[in-house]
Amino acid sequence: MEDCQSRLASGTTALDVVEHAVAKMETCGLYVAGRGSAPNSAGYVELDASIMDGSTRAAGAVAAIRDVVNPVQVARGVMESTVHIMLAGNGALAFARQHKFEEVADAEHYYMLPVGVTADEIKKQKHGTVGAVALDQSGQVAAATSTGGTFAKLEGRVGDTPLVGAGTWADDGVAISCTGTGEYIIRAGGAISIACKVRSGTSLHAAIDQMLAEVKGLGGEAGVIAVTKNGDIAMIYNSQGMKRAAVSASKPLVVATFED
Ligand code: ASP
Repeated sequence: MEDCQSRLASGTTALDVVEHAVAKMETCGLYVAGRGSAPNSAGYVELDASIMDGSTRAAGAVAAIRDVVNPVQVARGVMESTVHIMLAGNGALAFARQHKFEEVADAEHYYMLPVGVTADEIKKQKHGTVGAVALDQSGQVAAATSTGGTFAKLEGRVGDTPLVGAGTWADDGVAISCTGTGEYIIRAGGAISIACKVRSGTSLHAAIDQMLAEVKGLGGEAGVIAVTKNGDIAMIYNSQGMKRAAVSASKPLVVATFED
């Protein structure tokens, strides 16, 4: 986190910082994304990620991609090197190979259990995600999200994470990254429903609360991290807990898992 803070302090863009933060979390294997992902019902890992630049509304995503070390980097590659927003499955992998993104060399031994997850639990419907939102010195925001999805998901299942507008959103006012049961987040309107409310004058916290209430009403659970161009930071969830951290130039580092 300090790493991200110092990058922002030295003028790195929000887009570069969210990509960097998510890539680090994908590689470490501690969270359900990248290396910490669990296999689908067919026994192999499929990964989803997306990234969005609030200053340009450029966005990129990969869905159900196999065995790349950093799906978020491939998502940015899609954003910058194609006219598309999302590539999925074999096409996403072919793109990653063509653009020389790092591949997992030995998939059988690469993936590991994320922190707090037992071998038994990866057969159950648990889930996890990593996300980052940032506000840079020029007042621009960006968001990125990456996940291995729900454990034991059906082959080809895609949740909210790679869907720009559902799991990830950034515009000229706010950057948002969602976690939780993707099917419910999609049905509740996800990140863009929060952004639209903020645009029409609702406070960030109230807008997030409203989306989370919809998720809950439908029977799901979720969490949201967000930052506005004014520097308001929100990390709100209605799940049992959400690993989260925030830094800003004016506030000390906050790291938490459950309600304090
Ligand atoms: N939203 C992710 C998905 O449904 C999982 C999570 O955030 O925990 O794939």
